[in-house]
Amino acid sequence: MSGRNDELVERLRRLILDVPDFPRAGIVFKDITPVLADPPSFAAACDWLAARLEEARVEQVLAIESRGFIFGTAAAARLGLPLYLVRKPGKLPRATLGADYALEYGHDRLEIHQDAIRPGTRYGIVDDLIATGGTAAAVAGLLEEHGGRLTCCAFLVELGFLSGRDRLPDGATHSLLRYD
Ligand code: AMP
Repeated sequence: MSGRNDELVERLRRLILDVPDFPRAGIVFKDITPVLADPPSFAAACDWLAARLEEARVEQVLAIESRGFIFGTAAAARLGLPLYLVRKPGKLPRATLGADYALEYGHDRLEIHQDAIRPGTRYGIVDDLIATGGTAAAVAGLLEEHGGRLTCCAFLVELGFLSGRDRLPDGATHSLLRYD
């Protein structure tokens, strides 16, 4: 983490709230919604995410449902990059590619429009938080299978103790705030 982010990181640490036992017993949910309600912090967080995508020369942004939509949309718009949605099953209207994955608190499946993945294109994934890395790894798997190049995985929050980044390409994962 570079020095000039210290103030932003401290502000985010104060804003992000721990909600014990949500959505089920034993999970400490990181509630990022207060960040959205604090315009300077939200804007700075989106700028930081956009900078990571830009550094990695990302050509297309994949935002993960649902809180990843908020940050991924803002970052893609800042950079003028195409945005694609990674959604829960049955939400996308056209032909999809899908992958099953494990969450910190359960299992799920995600889908992306088939025409969102173009061989040889540089992709960046954006989500609010990486926990076990199962969600992002499922997207990484889909990209790999269909010839997309994953060059950046950008998160607001990383639960470092779950080692999710180990499931993603070496050196591609960036998080603004880490909890160990
Ligand atoms: P994972 O696949 O385990 O890395 O989980 C990441 C996804 O689940 C992200 O979309 C997060 O929004 C959500 N998530 C997982 N664990 C938490 C948590 N402790 N607090 C808030 N969101 C979480």
